[in-house]
Amino acid sequence: MLGALIGSIAGSIYEWKNIKTKDFPLFRYDSRIAGDAVMTAAVANAVLLTDDLGDLEGFKANVAAELRRMGEAYLGLPYGPRFEKWLLSDDPRPYDSVGNGGAARVSPVAWAAESLPQCLALAKAATEVTHASSEAGAGACCAAGAVYLARTGKDKDAIRDHVTRYFPLDFTLDEIRPDYAFDLSCAGSVPQAMEAFLEAEDFEDAIRNAISIGGDSDTIACMTGAVAAAFYGIPKDIRDVAVPYLTGEVWIALDRFSRVY
Ligand SMILES: [Mg+2]
Repeated sequence: MLGALIGSIAGSIYEWKNIKTKDFPLFRYDSRIAGDAVMTAAVANAVLLTDDLGDLEGFKANVAAELRRMGEAYLGLPYGPRFEKWLLSDDPRPYDSVGNGGAARVSPVAWAAESLPQCLALAKAATEVTHASSEAGAGACCAAGAVYLARTGKDKDAIRDHVTRYFPLDFTLDEIRPDYAFDLSCAGSVPQAMEAFLEAEDFEDAIRNAISIGGDSDTIACMTGAVAAAFYGIPKDIRDVAVPYLTGEVWIALDRFSRVY
């Protein structure tokens, strides 16, 4: 879970000011947790609140409740306009979105799942409370499944195979970097985030890869960071600098989740 949060923090200042290089300070005084970090914390809370993760309807109700509770606690953050409407609605219903918000928040399910099929079922459930499209479900299953495979010791070939069941990986970061632009669709950001992990040498290199292509940097780095942390672990020096950026409810969620998973 912390890997996703670190990606969100490191990418937060580059979402609207893209950089096309891997040479940048990982954390700055104005880095901050962004919406994907808060929503990742919400999904982690929902996992902890659900006694039986086989009860997908019960899990979905907890996800919806925690997304709304955490969203209201961090209402000043920039969320997508449709997600913000969902947060504030008296009668929140899923909307037809191919956006990457579901894929970005879903990584905690990979730490709780006992099998890949269970991980994918939980990922889909955690996404469809807001995002009704099959593309959003595929993005979440792709991202969460990669984290599950990484944390259970699978190699990069196995993770690449998993990713290509959902999206083609027919590019390198160097090839797309010059022209890649903001694209918050799952098809336009999830495979890029996975490639940033697959080309990396270690956790920090993965985060730098993710941000170096530009686009929706905080969200891409959030997805990349989740997989890279499960695969490589997080170096202590990066962990020590990142944790003080976590505030209030996000820190509490990380602390609770880390005690169990
Ligand atoms: Mg973003």
